[in-house]
Amino acid sequence: MSTATAVKVHNYSAGPCILPREVFEQAAQAVLDFEGGGLSILEISHRSKPFEAVMAKAQSLVKELLGAPDHYQVVFLGGGASMGFHMVPQNYMKVGGKSAYANTGEWASRAIKESKLAGETVVVASSEDKNFSYIPKGFTIPADADYFHFTSNNTIFGTQYKQFPKSPVPVVCDMSSDIFSRPVNVADFALIYAGAQKNMGPAGATVYLFDPNHLGKTGRKLSPMMDLKNHADKESMYNTPPVFAVYVSMLTMEWMKRVGGVAAIEKRNTAKAELLYGAIDRLPVFKGTTAVEDRSHMNPTFVLADAKLEPTFDAMWKEAGISGIRGHRSVGGYRASMYNALPIESVQALVDVMEEFAKKNG
Ligand SMILES: *Cc1c(COP(=O)(O)O)cnc(C)c1O
Repeated sequence: MSTATAVKVHNYSAGPCILPREVFEQAAQAVLDFEGGGLSILEISHRSKPFEAVMAKAQSLVKELLGAPDHYQVVFLGGGASMGFHMVPQNYMKVGGKSAYANTGEWASRAIKESKLAGETVVVASSEDKNFSYIPKGFTIPADADYFHFTSNNTIFGTQYKQFPKSPVPVVCDMSSDIFSRPVNVADFALIYAGAQKNMGPAGATVYLFDPNHLGKTGRKLSPMMDLKNHADKESMYNTPPVFAVYVSMLTMEWMKRVGGVAAIEKRNTAKAELLYGAIDRLPVFKGTTAVEDRSHMNPTFVLADAKLEPTFDAMWKEAGISGIRGHRSVGGYRASMYNALPIESVQALVDVMEEFAKKNG
């Protein structure tokens, strides 16, 4: 077996994305020999004592890192956040009831589509009129809705709620791309859910953090696989959970704890965002694509003032070992995803390239 020297790549992938190097090392070791037991993490039963301990630890770390109230529960499922879009109305919309949604981008739109299949769905706010380049504010959520759903960070368009909407009804949030990036008051949410592959771990697991008191009230007959309460009652072991994705998520959460928890991580993320947006604003050859007050700290998006220069810029950042900053096809330009594990040195490397590009083409 060869141990290739790690090539220095500045990984700006939007998801699946960068995780801490030490997590990869621990995970690689566990694939070969999990906790010295002579077996791989990939070949032990999910009901074995060692894996039960992993699951319990992963669940408790979610609550600890986010400071969730004691009675909140954590479930890890497969299916991605996209399955969450379906599970939300199934578990929270009463038969004959209605839901309220804010439409701030592609993922929010997909969540709305699933709710419409389940029943009446009121879109209380939308930023579609300006290609989702801002976060709508000052909207009213009907007091007779069963729940209100929003997307805290819009991964594709690069916007992020800086203040969460006040709601008269239970709040459900898709936090896939900014969970653990900043402190939140979990008690304000009936449910927070997130696909692992943006800030928590590898693709394959989705975390659901919820107040169980809101469940079991819809009058709907649910398939056991779609029933959040069933999964909670069975401790995420109703069927085989995505064991490796849960394990690596646990390792990543342990790393988050080691580096000081979510408050410390928020400071790092703010510093990274200030560095990159600073360059976008200082250098006239770049333009941000979103409203300044709604700029995402996870997925900054920008374009060149002169799009004809894209090949020149592309050659420069590739040369500097930067990877994954091409924008989503629906926005164009660039998206520099800066999840928790991206070091500020990588942001500096990109800013250096931007400065050099501006000097040559300004
Ligand atoms: C990536 C993403 C999703 C989709 O997640 P899947 O795990 O691919 O289903 C949903 N919501 C947001 C905010 C995302 O960033």
